[in-house]
Amino acid sequence: MTRRFFVGGNYKMNGTKESIQNILSHMNTATLPSQEVVDVIVSPPSIYLTLAQGLVNPRIKVAAQNCHSNASGAFTGEISVGMCKDIGLEWVIIGHSERRKVFGESDEFIAKKVKAVIDGGLSVIFCIGEQLSDRQSGKTNDVIAQQLSAVLTSVPNWTRVVIAYEPVWAIGTGVVATPQQAQDAHKFIRSWLSSNVSAAVAGDTRVIYGGSVSASNCAELSKETDIDGFLVGGASLVAADFVTIVSTAHPKSSL
Ligand code: PEP
Repeated sequence: MTRRFFVGGNYKMNGTKESIQNILSHMNTATLPSQEVVDVIVSPPSIYLTLAQGLVNPRIKVAAQNCHSNASGAFTGEISVGMCKDIGLEWVIIGHSERRKVFGESDEFIAKKVKAVIDGGLSVIFCIGEQLSDRQSGKTNDVIAQQLSAVLTSVPNWTRVVIAYEPVWAIGTGVVATPQQAQDAHKFIRSWLSSNVSAAVAGDTRVIYGGSVSASNCAELSKETDIDGFLVGGASLVAADFVTIVSTAHPKSSL
C-alpha cells in the first residue's frame, strides 16, 4: 500500500478575484503528476470559494480554511460544514495555528469542528505544531501529543484526516524546519497514532509538513520517509512555485 502525496495551498487572507483566477488558470493548464500520485488542494478565502470551485478542473480540489462546528444559526461571519458541502467542497482546514493563536480557538472547539466536518461527510486537514518556546524547552512531542489527544475521540474515521505538522516558528517566517526536524516530528506523530489508534491508521494516515515550504526546499523535505506532502502558505500564491512543489510528489509505502 502507498500513501498518496498531498499538497495543499493555503491562501490565508490573500488574493483578489483576478489573482485567484490567474493562479487557478495556471494550475489548470500545468502538467501535474497524476491523481494516483498526489492530491492537489487550493484554499482561498471563503468569499472566493465558489469562484475557485467553479474554475478548477476536477484534478484540483478546493478547501475551506475554516468552518464552524454548528450547523447553522447566530454565528456572524462564520460558514458551516453544510455550506461547504453545498458548493461541492471536500476538504476543510481545521486548527491552523493562526486560528488557534490569533482567534483563540481552543483544543476543545477545534475537536468539535473536526467532528462536525467528518460527520458532515467532508475531510479535514488538521493542523498541529509547537511554538518556538516549546521546541527550545524540549516540549515539541508533548505539545503534538496533546493536540492529537484533544481530537482522539472526535475522529470516527481517520481516512478522512490529513495531519498537517506545522511548527509555528516556521509559518510565514522563511525559517523552514530541517528535513530531519520535520521527519522526527512526523515519525513521532505516526508512533502516537500507532499507540493511540492503530498500526493500520499509523501506516495509512498522511502527515504533511507546513512552514515556509518553497520551490527550492521542497525536494529535500519530500524525500523523508514520513513526509507525505505539504501545506503551503506564501508559495502557493505563486502558481509556478506551487506547481514545482506539487511536482516533488513522493508517495511513501504505508507498510
Ligand atoms: C500555512 O499557512 O499553513 C503556512 C505553512 O504558511 P507558509 O508556507 O507561508 O509558512
